[in-house]
Amino acid sequence: MDPTALFNISYGVYVIASKKGDALNGQVANTVFQLSYEPPTIAVSINKNNLTHEYIKDSKVFTVSILSQDVPLSTIGQFGFKSGREVKKFEGIAYKTSQSGVPYLTEHILSYIEARVVQEFDANTHTVFVGEITGAEILAAGTPMTYAYYHQVKKGTTPPSAPTYVKKEEEKGMPSEKYICKVCGYVYDPAAGDPDGGIAPGTAFADIPDDWVCPVCGASKKEFEKMA
Ligand code: FE
Repeated sequence: MDPTALFNISYGVYVIASKKGDALNGQVANTVFQLSYEPPTIAVSINKNNLTHEYIKDSKVFTVSILSQDVPLSTIGQFGFKSGREVKKFEGIAYKTSQSGVPYLTEHILSYIEARVVQEFDANTHTVFVGEITGAEILAAGTPMTYAYYHQVKKGTTPPSAPTYVKKEEEKGMPSEKYICKVCGYVYDPAAGDPDGGIAPGTAFADIPDDWVCPVCGASKKEFEKMA
């Protein structure tokens, strides 16, 4: 089996949020899809180890924030590479709450959907939650972020808890001037720079200021190593 064959499956990139009592949490997921029109239902696959999984199990409600292509890597880092057990995910993030009291992002998203869980399927490491849609609104016009765009253009990476994670073989043989974050796997490519972080395309890693941090997880420059 060639696991890289799975890379050709198309996905979007979303923040899935839920609540438990007064506590709010959210995470990045790419596995969201509409199942039916009548009643309108959607499904999302969530890793059982994630706090959002615990919250959806508890409250039976979740929101899907559909990220725009212009979403900064820091937002993906906040929701995708940090645990709600260690940080408050929505601190410093612009959000509102849906009619069920579940947060959704109000910046860098195109629309949000709120759903109430009507079925669950065990999928080994993940649970597939099927939700009947209870609210949905368009917040902005634009192009939705896709998984391919995130990987290719944003130079993002996939955390090991994502269902689509495959240990990356393609990192071997990349030009040596690229540097990888040992914490989250973000790759700094001098050709792309880090415009969101004030680093112009064409800047060599050595020329980046020492106070620069990983745009995905916030790790310091010292946490990067040259790729073999
Ligand atoms: Fe990082």
